[in-house]
Amino acid sequence: MSLPPLVEPAAELTVDEVRRYSRHLIIPDVGMAGQKRLKNAKVLCVGAGGLGSPALMYLAAAGVGTLGIIDFDVVDESNLQRQIIHGQSDVGRLKAESAAASVREINPLVDVVIHNTALTTENVMEIFSGYDLIVDGTDNFATRYMVNDAAVLLGKPYVWGSIYRFDGQASVFWAEHGPCYRCLYPEPPPPGMVPSCAEGGVLGVLCASIGSIQVNEAIKLLTGIGDPLVGRLMIYDALEMKYRDVKVRKDPECVLCGKNPSVTQLLDDYEAFCGAISDEAAQAASGSTITALELKDMQDRGENIFLVDVREPNEYEIVSIPGATLIPKGEFLNGSALEKLPQDKKIVLHCKSGARSAEALAVVKDAGFADAVHVGGGVLSWVKSVDPSLPSY
Ligand SMILES: [Zn+2]
Repeated sequence: MSLPPLVEPAAELTVDEVRRYSRHLIIPDVGMAGQKRLKNAKVLCVGAGGLGSPALMYLAAAGVGTLGIIDFDVVDESNLQRQIIHGQSDVGRLKAESAAASVREINPLVDVVIHNTALTTENVMEIFSGYDLIVDGTDNFATRYMVNDAAVLLGKPYVWGSIYRFDGQASVFWAEHGPCYRCLYPEPPPPGMVPSCAEGGVLGVLCASIGSIQVNEAIKLLTGIGDPLVGRLMIYDALEMKYRDVKVRKDPECVLCGKNPSVTQLLDDYEAFCGAISDEAAQAASGSTITALELKDMQDRGENIFLVDVREPNEYEIVSIPGATLIPKGEFLNGSALEKLPQDKKIVLHCKSGARSAEALAVVKDAGFADAVHVGGGVLSWVKSVDPSLPSY
């Protein structure tokens, strides 16, 4: 399938631009017309993180005239292993600002627009409407569904990518010409089922593999060349070193882009739609959540507690709270953890951020440990408020 170019060409290229983009200009398929289209193009990158880093750098180098960057986060040391648009001296700086500075350094001819804000249901339509194409580098399901819904409602194409450990996926969703994200994934995964990169890790260079596919597809759509990744899902396995693509059909029953859509505007609350934690976990944690400082006080007072770390062994190796026994969450879900818990001590669970420990807490309370609690914010909160000399990850 080939599609017409998304963007009209700019009137002309300056002498500087001809020099800079000469290696594009001598490719017959791109040529002067293609480069002028890139110059006229407005592309928004959602997130200046793992995927956003390589995407923004190559979009800038390619000569995309207007590049929007939306991110509300600040650069953390643990980002630098893969978010190559940021450097050591950017730690603590707003990601959108840091990324914009790198873009300007790569190509001062790019007009950079900084959206230093979280993408919300209040601002997404207005922000998206200023761009021809969206590159989605988000890492959570709530934002992903919101990006999809806004793009479909506005009739805009977007290039999607996702990464986890050694596995990557990419596709172009454009409801006018093919499926949307909801055609592929009608329902968000159950809370706690799909670990995030923060929980499961990601090979840094995987971001480049998937981010470069996204830029490749963005350039093809903007200039109307080649066979775009519409209606196909690219799946990359870095360990096997295999790329394969599978067909994704438009679902005629899709609630958003199907024949009789029931979703005709943005949802009120995408976090609730995707459920940060399950209802059982939320119920168990309600009134049974302590802070890291409260845990420290309990330890200092010598209270009779049994502290359980429900993360994975490799996470425990990176940093752990003194006195914690490692029993991964999986053992709670299959029930085998329960026999390891003493009956005569108060059970205190923790994980990295508090989500997994809330899931485990539901199991523990169900098994009769009525006074069990978990630590809100987990290890991250312990490092921040109790012992900042420990590494965060
Ligand atoms: Zn759809």
